[in-house]
Amino acid sequence: MYDLIVIGAGPGGYVCAIRAAQLGLKVGVVEGREALGGTCLNVGCIPSKALLHASHMLHEAHENFAKMGLMNAHVDVDWTKMQSYKADTVQGNTKGIEFLFKKNKIDWIKGWASIPEAGKVKVGDTVHETKNIVIATGSSPAALKGVTVDNDAGVIVDSTGALALPKIPKSMVVIGAGVIGLELGSVYARLGAEVTVVEYLDVITPGMDGEVQKQFQKMLSKQGLSFVMGAAVQSAEAKDGQATVTYALKKDDSTHSLTADVVLVATGRRPHVEGLGLDALGVTMTDRGFVQVNDHWATSIKGVYAIGDAVPGPMLAHKAEDEGMAVAEVIAGKHGHVNYGVIPGVIYTTPEVANVGLTEEQAKEGGRKVKIGKFPFMGNARAKAQFLGEGFVKLIADAETDRILGCHIIGPSAGDLIHEVCVAMEFGASAEDLALTCHAHPTVSEAVREAALACGGGAIHA
Ligand code: FAD
Repeated sequence: MYDLIVIGAGPGGYVCAIRAAQLGLKVGVVEGREALGGTCLNVGCIPSKALLHASHMLHEAHENFAKMGLMNAHVDVDWTKMQSYKADTVQGNTKGIEFLFKKNKIDWIKGWASIPEAGKVKVGDTVHETKNIVIATGSSPAALKGVTVDNDAGVIVDSTGALALPKIPKSMVVIGAGVIGLELGSVYARLGAEVTVVEYLDVITPGMDGEVQKQFQKMLSKQGLSFVMGAAVQSAEAKDGQATVTYALKKDDSTHSLTADVVLVATGRRPHVEGLGLDALGVTMTDRGFVQVNDHWATSIKGVYAIGDAVPGPMLAHKAEDEGMAVAEVIAGKHGHVNYGVIPGVIYTTPEVANVGLTEEQAKEGGRKVKIGKFPFMGNARAKAQFLGEGFVKLIADAETDRILGCHIIGPSAGDLIHEVCVAMEFGASAEDLALTCHAHPTVSEAVREAALACGGGAIHA
């Protein structure tokens, strides 16, 4: 008899299992994939970051080496080798989770699970008994009407197919200007593909701060990505190794088409709960197909919990991890907690884009009086030395209390810089607290302090 069986070994599930084992529970994890780590390690965060890193290096060699006196850098791309670098990176991490499971005496139950009744998890012909179950089955790419994905053929692909294309395409259409589409679009643009992004809305990265959206689109356009905005894709058809995407422009209903070597469908993800038997079990679902949970990640069935991409909220690995730790603590009789107001979001393009808390639009819609401190990276010596002087830090604070409400960064190392603001927000800090904190020189983090200074008396270098 287990104390806990976790279904799914992604960042939500494996972190939950490790924390539960650390708290003294007997834990099993069911995973149907060949390797642990879920979407994130196998076909998500990690392989995409490996390709972003490699293609960024190529860009640096071509665009910036000579500017620094590093001459004659002839860098050719060996796609097969780049793919093995990606695979090695993935394997290093998935094997790391296997090691952590052994270290924490967690059983990896191999296979696909269903829940015939509370307290039972069925894998193959074996039924395992357990006091608690955590559903951490993640998500899969959402389908788009009129478009059939075939990752094996490598012409109309989703993110999983785009991470393992047989060759670098000369042209690519990305459907959807969200995080995944833009990251992978950037990779192939840097590798030489002509990339066109077709987006239904009039803005990229929906939900992000408006000023950041505009600046980001401008910077991506400068890097060679083209955008077709306000376009509803009607179909994509593969023929003779290419695909044609047909779309209608919302402004005048006119129909257009684009042909490319590869079409990447990146229109979002949906919770993956097929095969678990949740209907028969009577688990309440949301109208969008997520598992409904309460503040303690409990489903409508006693002893069955759910976390990560399978439940509502941002589909992010670190959100899943936080929920994983918190639900393990709840199950062990402690007080698990996740502060959903302070979950950072990062886009790992160059430059990076990061945000936490409220956007200016959200703060104003909520009727809050805010003050904004903005600082351009052009005023930051370190950023300029790295040819990354474009972009800015935008800090949003309450106009009356000075409490930090949000931060939006587009610029070098934005994905790391955002965390000092996260910590500040967790401690309920004011913009002045950040402004009074000494920041080492020369670092790009000085730009965050300058934005905080701009909320008060004024930035020094702007
Ligand atoms: P998952 O990671 O999806 O893991 C669920 C696991 O459950 C899977 O391994 C699956 O095989 C298993 N499973 C499902 N059903 C069963 C069953 N019945 N029995 C047994 N096993 C089952 N997020 C970030 O925060 N940062 C990023 O940079 C980032 N980049 C991304 C890039 C791409 C291309 C993609 C696709 C996603 C990216 N994400 C990123 C999102 C991130 O991968 C997910 O938010 C995260 O993996 C969710 O974790 P999870 O544990 O909920 O589920």
